[in-house]
Amino acid sequence: MRLEHHEFRDMDLVGGDPALDLVNTVTARDTLPRDWLDEYAALLRWARKAALILDADAEALAAQADAAPSKAAAALARAKQLREALCTALYALSSGAEPAEAELETLDQARLAASRAARLISRGGRLQTQWSAERSGLDLIAHVVTAYAIELLKDARLDRLRVCDGHDCGWVFVDTSKSGRRRWCDMATCGNVAKAKRFHQRHKE
Ligand SMILES: [Zn+2]
Repeated sequence: MRLEHHEFRDMDLVGGDPALDLVNTVTARDTLPRDWLDEYAALLRWARKAALILDADAEALAAQADAAPSKAAAALARAKQLREALCTALYALSSGAEPAEAELETLDQARLAASRAARLISRGGRLQTQWSAERSGLDLIAHVVTAYAIELLKDARLDRLRVCDGHDCGWVFVDTSKSGRRRWCDMATCGNVAKAKRFHQRHKE
C-alpha cells in the first residue's frame, strides 16, 4: 500500500465512529489504496484531530516517539494491524457476512492488550475505563480505538454500516440518515462527484 503524507481535516472524520475513521485513514481502497499513516506522527495528528486523546498525552507520546523511533514504528505497525483487521471485518459485515476467525483473533488480542492497560476510575459516582500515555505508552491510540471498535461491533448501529459507493474511496461509515439510504461517505465529496459523473454521462448520450 502506498504511503502518502496527509494533513487530516474534519472531512476525513465522517465515519460516525473513531473505529471507522481509523479504517478511513486509508483512502481509495477500491482502486489504488493510499495509506495516510506514513509515520507515527501521522497517527498522532489523526488522533488529535479526532479528539481521541488529551493534549498532555499527545505531547507525552510525541516525546516517546522521538526518543525511540523504532518503538514508534512498531506501535504504528500494531495500530495498522488493528486497522486492517477492523477493515476486513467491517467489509464482511457490510456485505452481510460474518467476520473471519483471523480478524476476530486480532481484535481479541487488541482487546486484551487494551484492557490490561486500562484503569478504572470513578467519575461522578460512575466507573469509567481510562487509558493514559503513562500506562499504554505508544499504543495509547490503538488502545482507545480498540475500545470504540469493540463497542461498535456489539452495537445495533452496525445494521447501518455502509461502504461508500464513491469511486476512489472505499470508506466505511454508519448511516445515521432517517431514510437509511445514504450511499456516500460525504455528500460534498463522493456524492457530488458521482452526481456530476451521471450528469456528464447523460449529456454525452
Ligand atoms: Zn466516499
